[in-house]
Amino acid sequence: MRNKITIAIDGPAGSGKSSVSKIVAKRLGLLYIDTGAMYRALTLKAMKKGINLEEETALVELANNTKIELIHQKEGTVVLLDGQDVTDGIRETNVTNNVFYLARTEEVRECMKKLQRKIAEKGDVVMEGRDITTVILPDADYKFYLDASFEERVKRRRKELEQNGKQVAGSGLSKDIKIRDEKDFTRKIAPLRKAKYAIVIDSTGMSLEEEAATVISYIK
Ligand code: C5P
Repeated sequence: MRNKITIAIDGPAGSGKSSVSKIVAKRLGLLYIDTGAMYRALTLKAMKKGINLEEETALVELANNTKIELIHQKEGTVVLLDGQDVTDGIRETNVTNNVFYLARTEEVRECMKKLQRKIAEKGDVVMEGRDITTVILPDADYKFYLDASFEERVKRRRKELEQNGKQVAGSGLSKDIKIRDEKDFTRKIAPLRKAKYAIVIDSTGMSLEEEAATVISYIK
């Protein structure tokens, strides 16, 4: 029997992280964990409850009193927020644009760290996000940093949104991605970074299949 493996993947929005992680997990028979979905679920709850997103103590209390579950089904991952299916709701643009409030809050991140490490401890996982290779699983068996040019990332995100039937206004999307990049790269706690010894893959011009094949080629 082979040893269990842990694969950590980070990268900016539109780098192909989620799609590639899903393909890799499926091919290698590993569990796929989308940590962005967890921050999104917390954000959705905070917005629904009308919590002031500037108020850190309220966000921390919310994080400590919320149950987030990722349920794996044949059709994909279902995200449960306190038992309710929020798989689609967490992808709405207003959620995407407000996630940074939760993501910049240290104690919220601590709470997510516990949850994410607990899930990863059983092994045989592909976990993706922004701080997986640097903070959550710095000792993962394989660490990848996926990247692509800004233009390519915007193009991919536009395609993804269109496939999900969402309206995408002209330059709005590239502005949103630029702002999100800036926030993810510059926040004080757990900013997006290339981890030491992470394998960096620039997938500009590659299809998602090629990108996934490149990742798999490094895994023994
Ligand atoms: O991966 P996704 O784009 O769905 O993540 C949404 C947001 O959640 C990111 O822009 C980032 O601010 C936050 N996030 C994070 N740390 C993670 C995963 C996501 O801060 N590990």
